[in-house]
This record gives sequence, C-alpha cells and structure tokens, in this order.
Amino acid sequence: MLLGSIEAGGTKFVCAVGNDDYQVKYKVQFPTTTPEETLTKVVDYFKQFEIDALGVATFGPIEIRKTAPKYGYITSTPKPGWQDVDFIGFLKKEIKVPMSWTTDVNGSAYGEFTMATLFNEKINSLVYYTIGTGVGAGAVINGQLVGGIGHPEMGHVLLKRHPDDLEFKGICPFHGDCLEGLVAGPTFEVRTGKKGAEVPLTDQTWDILAYYIAQAALQTTLTLRPNKIVFGGGVTNQVLLEKVRIEFAKLLNDYVQVPPLDKYLTMPSVPNNGSANVGNFALAAKLLVD
Ligand code: ADP
Ligand code: ZN
Repeated sequence: MLLGSIEAGGTKFVCAVGNDDYQVKYKVQFPTTTPEETLTKVVDYFKQFEIDALGVATFGPIEIRKTAPKYGYITSTPKPGWQDVDFIGFLKKEIKVPMSWTTDVNGSAYGEFTMATLFNEKINSLVYYTIGTGVGAGAVINGQLVGGIGHPEMGHVLLKRHPDDLEFKGICPFHGDCLEGLVAGPTFEVRTGKKGAEVPLTDQTWDILAYYIAQAALQTTLTLRPNKIVFGGGVTNQVLLEKVRIEFAKLLNDYVQVPPLDKYLTMPSVPNNGSANVGNFALAAKLLVD
C-alpha cells in the first residue's frame, strides 16, 4: 500500500510518500506561493506515484464538517490569497483516491498518538501543541480527533498575565494577549528586539513564556484529561519544557493525578517536525479500512 501525505504550512509545503509502516520513502518540499501554483506542484508530485490514499494536514482555519458545502476549503485564513480556497476539490479533480482532511496540529496530534500506540504506550488520548510562528493545538480523545462545528483553536485561549510582563500587549491580530499573542515565536522580536533563537535560555523571557504555556497545559489537563501533552514547533526546547513542568506542578497543586511530568509534558517522538506526516499516513490508511 502506498500512502501520500501533504503537510501544508504557511511558508512551505511538504509532500511525502510512504507505506503502511508510516516510514517516509520519498519527500519533497517547496515554498507556499499562490494556491494555483502550489497545488499544481502538489498534483504533479503525486502523479508520479500510484498512491492508494492521501492525508492532508494544513494551516487554517478550514472547513472540516463533511456535510458542509465548503468541506475541504481553507476558509478565513489571514494568509493572503488563501481565503476560501477549495483545497480538496482541486486535488480531487486530478487525484482519484480517498483523502483525509484536517489541521496541521490535528495531523501532528494523530501522528504522535499513532507513534505512542506503536511503541505500546497504553494511551487513548493526546494533545499536541505547536509553538512556532503561531500557536495551535490538536486533540485525540478515545482515538478520535476532537472537533464539533469546527476544529479546536486552543492557541487563542486567554490567560492570567505574568506580573513582569504586564506592559506587553501581545501580537494576536484578533485578541492581542491570548496564548498565541503572548508566546508565538515573533513575540521574542517584540519583547527583546532579537529573534527567539538568539535569546539566551537564561533570559527571563523564557520564564514568562513557560508561565503562559504551563497555564495552557493546565487548562488542557482540566478540560480534557489527556494521557499526554506534546509540545512541538520552533520555539519549544527542553529547557523551556522543564520550566513549564515546574510552573505546571505549582498551578495544578496536586488537584488531580497526572503521569510523571517528564512523561506527561513532552517533546515530539517524531523528530524534525515529522509528526504530521505520520498522522497523515495513519489517517489516510484508516480511510481504506473504515
Ligand atoms: P512555523 O510555525 O512557521 O511552521 P516553526 O515551528 O519552525 O515554523 O516556528 C518558527 C518560529 O519559531 C519563528 O518565529 C522563529 O523565530 C521561532 N524560532 C525558531 N528557532 C527558535 C529557537 N531556537 N528559539 C526560539 N524561537 C525560535
Ligand atoms: Zn488570538
């Protein structure tokens, strides 16, 4: 069985082909330009293979309700030129295989969940956060992606402010100081004048980020009670995550039981932001058996 994966990001697209052991056999990436040009490249790439099913995980927001007229569309994205784009419709004209359609973070959540299951972790739920140019999260509960009238947007929750960070207004164009507005990668430039990668891990900015990310982990723990919360994206690193665990322990204050924090709050098990590929393969494979 050959499976295809598209990880559609705001800056680049990654297309991959693999089989049902979820290993990538072929892979290509190109910059995200106009929908027409980018999706044509996607179609041309997959036409070289005889894939049986295709998984798509994309930036959004997107329409995921199967009965909605705009199912398969990218809807109200701030990315110029990509509003109201019939992504799946474009692919279906040229590639006649079943396709799964979800958000980038849902794809990653499903990938990490799949890996955990393959490694015999006895879990049935997992939440995946990306902290990169933006912040988002996807959730798997009882082995299924969570979402009702739309997909979750956990990157935009509101938080208690850090006492040493009260002057920072946040950068979310919709909410100012929501989670994304306070911890996304570009906040480093606004707070410190430097790119995140250049801010030493001893700088207090990292403690401030950890304070907010720990609150997000707390809300997620209290609302969903997942087996595990995974943090990916360019901003995440082990030092930050250790700070998050310490803040999280203070906030939770032993109210409910969670696994040991080094197992509960982790970085992705798939390296190089590859979780979404695994998730796409697994979701595509599922279409062939369901
Ligand atoms: P994207 O979210 O665009 O898919 P990434 O997850 O790689 O991509 O996140 C990019 C963001 O992460 C940028 O804002 C970048 O400045 C920031 N970033 C990259 N490396 C680091 C680092 N080592 N420390 C902190 N921030 C970083
Ligand atoms: Zn917001």
